[in-house]
Amino acid sequence: MKSFLLNPKFEVDDIISYTELTAAEKMNLQKGMNFNVNPEYSVFLMSVRKGAPYADKIDEKTNTLIYEGHDVPSNISDKPKEVDQQLITPNGSLTENGKFYTAAQSYKLNLIKHPHRIKVYEKIQNGVWCYKGFYNLIDAKIENDGKRNVFKFYLQPVEIKSMKKEVVIPFNRVIPTHVKVEVWARDKGRCVKCGSTENLHYDHDLPYSKGGTSLTAENVRILCMKCNLSKSNKILSLPPILFP
Ligand SMILES: [Zn+2]
Repeated sequence: MKSFLLNPKFEVDDIISYTELTAAEKMNLQKGMNFNVNPEYSVFLMSVRKGAPYADKIDEKTNTLIYEGHDVPSNISDKPKEVDQQLITPNGSLTENGKFYTAAQSYKLNLIKHPHRIKVYEKIQNGVWCYKGFYNLIDAKIENDGKRNVFKFYLQPVEIKSMKKEVVIPFNRVIPTHVKVEVWARDKGRCVKCGSTENLHYDHDLPYSKGGTSLTAENVRILCMKCNLSKSNKILSLPPILFP
């Protein structure tokens, strides 16, 4: 069976259009939270831009991305930001919050062996998206923010090596969305080397292995696939070591 996990259409930090996103998932994703879009994973669409509807952030202590749950739809309340986020719908079925909350609790109670997998895409600006990779849903809480109850989902970034093997990625290797938004504006949505606007990718100037961080815009830039490849060729074609 072809595995969606092992054959992702994109590399982490690829910049894509909304059309490419929906084509890759073979469905029109309108909601932020999309439970079990196929047997192997769910999809979250996230956005932390100014005026964005949901507060998502990285928690450095737990090495997790915290994703806030969804408000009630406007046919239930005309002030969705003022009422509790819901676990179940009026007809008694689980909301998307409820499905993910149940999945996280099942993992914590050892009812399922592996945490629920979520593929994350983030919005850079209208029509511009970035593939953020796979995350494990390791916890979920219902918190009172002083006014109402909201859901918090705790996602751990992972790199999937094979169906049985995955590696947890430290938070400082994940480029936060606000850094991507800043870099996109600074580099004007183009490859910094050749000016191309196609097949773009967020590139680390100094690789992680050499101490580069992804937490500031200074070390991140936009490169097209071609310039990115010629960069790695340069690293591979180091001058030969001459033995006497
Ligand atoms: Zn280029």
